Amino acid sequence: MKQIALLGATGSIGVQTLDVLRNHKDEFSLYSMAFGRNIEKAIPLIREFRPKIVVVQDEETQQKLTGEIDLPDILIGSGGLIEACVADDVDIVLNAVMGSVGLSATLKAIEAKKTVALANKETLVTAGHLVMEAAKKHNVKLLPVDSEHSAIYQVLNGEKMEDVHKLIITASGGSFRDKKRSELEGVIVDDALNHPNWSMGAKITIDSATMMNKGLEVIEAHWLFNIPYDQIHVILHRESVIHSMVEYIDRSVIAQLGTPDMRVPIQYALTYPDRMELPMTKQLDLEEIAALHFEKMDFERFPCLRMAYEAGRAGGSMTTVLNAANEEAVQMFLEGKISFLEIERLIEKELSQHDKIHSPDLSAILSIDKTTRERVRSHLN
Ligand code: NDP
Ligand code: MG
Repeated sequence: MKQIALLGATGSIGVQTLDVLRNHKDEFSLYSMAFGRNIEKAIPLIREFRPKIVVVQDEETQQKLTGEIDLPDILIGSGGLIEACVADDVDIVLNAVMGSVGLSATLKAIEAKKTVALANKETLVTAGHLVMEAAKKHNVKLLPVDSEHSAIYQVLNGEKMEDVHKLIITASGGSFRDKKRSELEGVIVDDALNHPNWSMGAKITIDSATMMNKGLEVIEAHWLFNIPYDQIHVILHRESVIHSMVEYIDRSVIAQLGTPDMRVPIQYALTYPDRMELPMTKQLDLEEIAALHFEKMDFERFPCLRMAYEAGRAGGSMTTVLNAANEEAVQMFLEGKISFLEIERLIEKELSQHDKIHSPDLSAILSIDKTTRERVRSHLN
């Protein structure tokens, strides 16, 4: 029986992870769970899975939850997230919180020698060098949950990294893939949240519309697979059937395919290196799909992808700024305070003003993350 610590249990990935656990009760049990503030969603999950540790974002939520349900211990904040991960009985930490808030818990989980299944890509974007260094030092497995990275991980199984010519990451194109740049000026939040292929949390859905999600994934791939940016290629593939591919030096290209359902990569991360049945997922029916399409990525149309490559190549603290500026700008867009195109303008501005630190330590990263968010927010004044 594997004991799971689940961070972000009330979110899109969190709920789908619990669905996997529900279907494999003999294999997995939920040892601890953390969420932010969504008590309504959390209470039935706590009643069903009976975790030993529950963590919430703040004291107010802690008090509300105490009044609603009889639990021995409700922890709070980033200290609570860490407690949920490092408890002796935990075998796997599945980190599915949204944003760089997941960084410290990821690092502590690694130090405690827990296997980490990582959905929280912002952790690798903001501090990939620290996370990978720690994983190497403590000999800990980092298993990708992001569908593209899970695909690549599966394709690389049994292969040698020196035989890889390039990674080919597929992008669905997000909600505005058929709009020209001139048509993006007046788009509203609800349109941006309407993703053609995947149902996900709000922030990543906006990231898909700006194509920043693919940029974050390029950086995520750079760190996870220890591969230079020149060997990471992105193509537009509308159907989200091929989740990503690897081209080897002999020109052989191997892909992983499936219906778009995050429970597949989530479960693979939890069962690795084994596989288990996943009956609730629809089988891939290629006869029904009939055709798959591929298009070249347009870096002028999607400047966020260009900025992510540039920040990644520049390295150091640039990706910390990229991530923090993006998180704050997307939040401001979701609050209705800025327009869609202002997201990319604010990120570009932060990147152009930043004085890069070559190899920032954790305190430098946390400080740059905070000041970048404050600066982006200050544009409202
Ligand atoms: P959601 O917004 O749906 O969920 C985020 C979760 O994190 C919620 O449970 C939320 O709690 C919790 N949370 C947020 N802030 C805190 C905090 N300070 N302390 C504790 N918990 C917190 O996001 P997604 O599930 O869509 O995405 C999660 C991560 O997975 C992101 O990094 C995303 O990029 C990545 N990912 C997601 C995919 C998807 O299909 N959704 C695909 C690939 C990657 P609450 O709502 O209760 O406040
Ligand atoms: Mg993805």
